[in-house]
Amino acid sequence: MRLILLGPPGAGKGTQAQRLVARYGIPQLSTGDMLRAAVKAGTPVGLKAKAVMDAGGLVSDDIVVGIINDRIEEADAKKGFILDGFPRTVAQAEALDRMLAQKGLKLDAVLELKVDEKALLARIENRARETVAAGGAVRADDNPEAFKVRLDAYRAQTAPVSAYYEGKGALKTVDGMAPIDDVTAALAKALG
Ligand code: ADP
Repeated sequence: MRLILLGPPGAGKGTQAQRLVARYGIPQLSTGDMLRAAVKAGTPVGLKAKAVMDAGGLVSDDIVVGIINDRIEEADAKKGFILDGFPRTVAQAEALDRMLAQKGLKLDAVLELKVDEKALLARIENRARETVAAGGAVRADDNPEAFKVRLDAYRAQTAPVSAYYEGKGALKTVDGMAPIDDVTAALAKALG
């Protein structure tokens, strides 16, 4: 099973991706997690990406397309994967199409979590509070200023990705405002 999870920052993609991982036994490929790991490790990609990520902007298409192209070749991704946070621009979606065609692979579904924008900032603030309470470090971009930039990037660059897949008849939209378990059930139903 090869899936894409779409939705704005704070929509709950990470939570639902974890449940899809458990259900289908395929890995979650989160470009956000991979980029944060690169930043932490101080790799050339991480050094390039850090400032733009901290500010809430998008890392260049070349970098993330390269990361995904390599990652889906790894052994654990052979039986499928869940893309979380990628593609985030129509150019990335087109690059993914080319990449999959070249590898002879097909997508099974594109799942979109629809969330009321007004709820998103509160969710991000809550995530930051819970992280602190658990003794963890808050993400450098989980603050109101960077969040506003992330939301603007989502509206301008990622919302068109939903339209791109809708045009291909691949998009399945689920209400991301429902309780977590209900969202999980709706996703399972959408996958048939
Ligand atoms: P969110 O929780 O906002 O959905 P992610 O953890 O997916 O965020 O990503 C965090 C940051 O990493 C983004 O704001 C962006 O700077 C960078 N990033 C992640 N995926 C991509 C991508 N596909 N294209 C460009 N930048 C990306």
